[in-house]
Amino acid sequence: MHDKIVLVNLQKQYATIKSEIDPAIQKVLNDCDFIQGQAVKDFETAFADYCETRYCAGVSNGTDALYMALVAAGIKPGDEVITQANTYIATVLAISRVGAKPILVDADPHTYQIDPVLIEKALSTRTKAIVPVHLYGHMAPMDDITRIASKYGLRVIEDAAQAHGATYKGKRAGTFGDMACYSFYPGKNLGGYGDGGAIVANKEAYDAKLRKLRNYGEEKKYVHVEKGFNFRLDTLQAAVLNVKLKHIDNWNAARRKHAALYTKLLSQIPGIQLPKEDPNQSSVYHLYVIQVDKRDELLEFLKRKNIYCGIHYPIPVHMQGAYSDLKLPKGMYKVTEAAADRIISLPMYAELTQKEIEYVVDCIKEFINGTNKS
Ligand SMILES: *Cc1c(COP(=O)(O)O)cnc(C)c1O
Repeated sequence: MHDKIVLVNLQKQYATIKSEIDPAIQKVLNDCDFIQGQAVKDFETAFADYCETRYCAGVSNGTDALYMALVAAGIKPGDEVITQANTYIATVLAISRVGAKPILVDADPHTYQIDPVLIEKALSTRTKAIVPVHLYGHMAPMDDITRIASKYGLRVIEDAAQAHGATYKGKRAGTFGDMACYSFYPGKNLGGYGDGGAIVANKEAYDAKLRKLRNYGEEKKYVHVEKGFNFRLDTLQAAVLNVKLKHIDNWNAARRKHAALYTKLLSQIPGIQLPKEDPNQSSVYHLYVIQVDKRDELLEFLKRKNIYCGIHYPIPVHMQGAYSDLKLPKGMYKVTEAAADRIISLPMYAELTQKEIEYVVDCIKEFINGTNKS
């Protein structure tokens, strides 16, 4: 039996950076600056540089980042915010948390990114913002989105939780919208060893607002100018992220190389829909997602071969009990619903080897040849 191949192998990554991570954590323990410590400040500077934005505020996680960005953008109860139906539920949860109504639109069936034609159709007099999601590490069609936003005076908040380092026409995720929100959940391209997030922006006013909001609405010690939250990034997480940020470009390059190999090998097997990249963008392949018939059977078959894949995401947001109040019937989002039954995310992380990818592809080939015969 082949060694186990998982969707994301964080242990393999830790082994390659242990000699940098352990002393970075030890330094925080020695300094005991656990809250808004030096590593947080260092990380904010470095991550703003990385995103090619002027400001970065470290926060508690990606979901809180989206919520705070919507608050900072002035989104209020009764407003409508457009996002895509095939996103992770956290995007939509942030919209409902500000009291706004999430307006879901379908995605392109090949790139999985929000369909700009459908954004324009979904506009109403109450629309205040668009939250494009750079899903799977690909970039949303930002030219169309920013054009629509400026035509109708809408805010744009990028959900870049899966797209650290991705570019559209050479510009990084985060430089298009009013703000962009990142998650450092451990399994993301840039992940901490616990929860974490950040919001990047170019406008000073947004950054100043976000810094107050994350820290009890405090302007200076014990002076509270608004009703804020406790949404800070831990110093320990920032220390981990500072180490990992130095490696992210290499890791993303490895992911792209793995994606190219998957695509080359899988394109020789009939009946598989491969991921398609918009030529304007450069993906960081947070996930490598293909579509097949008999997806659930393939998932089980691969498990028996010691390969563990994922589904992102098996139940679309509008079909979740949490959003029954939106009264969006099954059949509303054809691309999202069809994809939910057919998508499978193959193992994807920098430390994957060529042999492992070949083994995964061979097993998929064996499954497809087997089902074609029967
Ligand atoms: C992970 C993720 C989030 C939420 O981030 P957390 O840090 O887990 O709260 C939001 N949107 C998308 C698209 C994500 O993948």
